[in-house]
Amino acid sequence: MSTTTDTTTDASTRWTVLDGPDALACGWCGIAVPEPGERPAWTIEEAPTIAGFREDSPVRAGARHTFTRCDQCAQRRAEAGAISQPEASRWHRRYGSSAAAFDAAEAVLAALDMLGRPRAEAHAPDAAVTLAGLVAGGTALRWSGWFMPRRAAGVPLRGATTAPWAHIEREDPDGAVAALRDAYGAVLRRRVAARVPASTTHAAVPAPVTLAGHWALPDRHLAALGGCLLCGVASAVPPASVPGHRLLTPAARLAATWHPATCNPQSLGGHRSLRTSGRRAAGFLCPPCHDAAARVGDGDTVDAAARDAALAAWLREHQPEDVAGLRVGGTDPAFDQRRTPAWAVLATWDTLRGVTRHGNVTPWAHLR
Ligand SMILES: [Zn+2]
Ligand SMILES: [Zn+2]
Repeated sequence: MSTTTDTTTDASTRWTVLDGPDALACGWCGIAVPEPGERPAWTIEEAPTIAGFREDSPVRAGARHTFTRCDQCAQRRAEAGAISQPEASRWHRRYGSSAAAFDAAEAVLAALDMLGRPRAEAHAPDAAVTLAGLVAGGTALRWSGWFMPRRAAGVPLRGATTAPWAHIEREDPDGAVAALRDAYGAVLRRRVAARVPASTTHAAVPAPVTLAGHWALPDRHLAALGGCLLCGVASAVPPASVPGHRLLTPAARLAATWHPATCNPQSLGGHRSLRTSGRRAAGFLCPPCHDAAARVGDGDTVDAAARDAALAAWLREHQPEDVAGLRVGGTDPAFDQRRTPAWAVLATWDTLRGVTRHGNVTPWAHLR
């Protein structure tokens, strides 16, 4: 059996026929397990077929297929058990039974593996709720799914994959992984929206709603005002590095809090109409977003890397267990332009339409 990973779509290189009378395929990644021994196995039966259209036509029972788990997938199953099986786990409460909770946790772990996300996310106390959106997509990854309700075209009767997950076409825009990325994007948006509103203190400084008196609108720029260009928050407290800021004049406090910046909304998740307009946006950054933008760039012109850094920094502070190992800079599946636009994208789009967009009560609330 070949152990090379093949990314072509040629079916013959993606699956093969089990050799050896005892061999079973792993029901998840699909590879052959030559000697399953005492490993747990399960059998599915394809939907029955009717030979003809007459009422007395014989109904042919569907073929039966038995699967087991390879070492890797058995290990994932064991981890799913550790997460979901304690009586008090939220998995039990959400899925109603021990078996359903077990399967859901296993699907979530498989989904995280496929997305390259750390499994630690599934260990968070509320993961049964926050990651519920990944259960269907994770379940859809199973090799056994290629046999239900009927065996997929071209898949042999005793079929196994040539390499773990060889049946999954990762780059297929309509495929299981693309669907998982969408589901994960939705998970991320819900997490952001679920944040408790930050207590607005008397020290908070509203975002400027005009550029007048602050700086001149650069040529060919649209103003995106009333919220932070990146997180959209409508008011922010001056950074801790400004001691005694309460004693400053309002203008000085504003200058100490809001940093003027420009961006290209198209590169931050922009609408197609923004692309054709070719307009840039001018506005302000709140202190945390400016810090993040200054770490990956100059802090004056913000791009996708700045947006990613700012969102990652905010998530790390507010929900660290969810973002363990988060990769920023456009390489993390969580960070997709279309799924996590900067607030400036929406504000600029509204400005073009003649509508005023108000800033967010909490950072990133526009991602809900
Ligand atoms: Zn496997
Ligand atoms: Zn911000």
